[in-house]
Amino acid sequence: MPQPLMTDPSITQLIFYINGAWSTPLTSTHVLPVINPATQTAFSKVCLANKDDVDIAVNAAANAFDAWSQTSLQQRIDMVDAFLVAYQKRYESIACAITQEMGAPASMSYDIQTETGVGHTQAHLEAAKAALLDEPIGDHGQLIKEPIGVCVLITPWNWPINQIVCKVIPALLAGCTMVLKPSELTPMSAQLFAQCVHEAGIPSGVFNMLHGTGEDIGDYLTSHPLVDMVSFTGSTRAGVAIAKSAATSVKRMSQELGGKSANIIFADAKLAEQVELGVQACMLNSGQSCDAPTRMLVQASVYEQVVELAKGSVNSHVLGDPTQKGEHLGPVISQEHWHKVQGLIQAGIDEGATLLCGGTDKPLGFEQGYYVKPTLFGDVNNAMTIAQEEIFGPVLVLIPFEDEAQAIRIANDSPYGLGAYVSTQDMKKAHRVARRLRAGTVHINMADLEYCMPFGGYKQSGNGREYAGFGLHEFQEIKAIAGYR
Ligand code: NAD
Repeated sequence: MPQPLMTDPSITQLIFYINGAWSTPLTSTHVLPVINPATQTAFSKVCLANKDDVDIAVNAAANAFDAWSQTSLQQRIDMVDAFLVAYQKRYESIACAITQEMGAPASMSYDIQTETGVGHTQAHLEAAKAALLDEPIGDHGQLIKEPIGVCVLITPWNWPINQIVCKVIPALLAGCTMVLKPSELTPMSAQLFAQCVHEAGIPSGVFNMLHGTGEDIGDYLTSHPLVDMVSFTGSTRAGVAIAKSAATSVKRMSQELGGKSANIIFADAKLAEQVELGVQACMLNSGQSCDAPTRMLVQASVYEQVVELAKGSVNSHVLGDPTQKGEHLGPVISQEHWHKVQGLIQAGIDEGATLLCGGTDKPLGFEQGYYVKPTLFGDVNNAMTIAQEEIFGPVLVLIPFEDEAQAIRIANDSPYGLGAYVSTQDMKKAHRVARRLRAGTVHINMADLEYCMPFGGYKQSGNGREYAGFGLHEFQEIKAIAGYR
């Protein structure tokens, strides 16, 4: 695989992009090593912002808002088209950066992680004309959709480009200006993304990017008086803190948070196929996806059969070097996260779940790197820690149920409500159950979500909706003009 553009100075030392130019911190000397989780070695360093840098970036976005908000939709579409050309030029470098910074295996980085940047940009472009159009309303009124203003966009490390694209592209198309703060753990793909925005000729100050930690700048950034909206994707813990901080000046807040998604396997499902797909979806990205189906609810009459199928499938998930192509799994993101996952696996054992595959400690042959054994627990009851908490690792739990009503009750018995999955050959039952599940997306028989569909959560999984037209609406104010016609 080609290396990221290492000759570019903005890549060897990861810095900020403010007012159309690369810039080093004003006064901060705080720097963080960027660690490859497969080798545990630092391969770059990222400068971390302080309040001075936040002020400069937010002021740049505020100053650029008036002119950018008055551009025509067609002008903005043309610039996003130019962004896509620049993105495709850097496609391999972005995939390589994702592999280096978060350990996603080469094929996964290339075919899935980086591809989402293309798919989502195209879907937002397709939706823009309809979503941003004025509409007549009532006898004499007109409904106008205007950009909300200056947006702070905060993103996590687990799908680094997917999350950035799903915020920056709709914000740009809607006519907003912005400050992006990507995860400090995955700053390199963000830096390449910023290069694409720069190359697209987006005017200075419209898009700004800072690196930094929640601890250093989170509160200051999200309560800044010049900011109109905060769009956040990450943990429920941080989402709650940010919402409190943004509330003091009544900013719009969009939260895309954690999950503990149920996958209901009815006895009449195509068991071999659906269990295999369910295990794969749980293990994808080493279990580090917010909507991963991590609780497999299995009808009691086929429980033993599903245990065997799931064991076979989990055992077939091998670990491997992320720089190599293939279907293997990589490490989890960091040492701190590795310890968290280990603690949760231990909690499953301590609380009496049956360990069917995997377990604690480093897998044999993978002593270096933050690798976790693909792990399966049986005989789990929904009150256990491993059924309630988001583990964010390659860990699947099997929970038996007797009938449809109990399956729905267990699926909904969670503080989260992001994804849900139903497997059955009875489509009437699938529709009935899908309507009862308190989750933002439901997948029948493991059907994929399309780029045009909305993504977001119920309950503590958040209150936003991203993707295509739904994502565009998040960045708009609605104005009613009476007596317009
Ligand atoms: P995190 O909450 O630790 O960090 C996310 C981002 O928020 C990072 O950029 C971080 O620097 C920043 N941050 C942390 N505390 C902050 C604060 N107080 N103020 C401002 N910014 C702050 O989450 P993570 O570990 O990076 O990501 C994993 C989490 O993200 C999981 O819970 C996962 O489910 C969730 N997630 C949700 C979705 C979704 O669409 N619902 C998508 C991806 C990930």
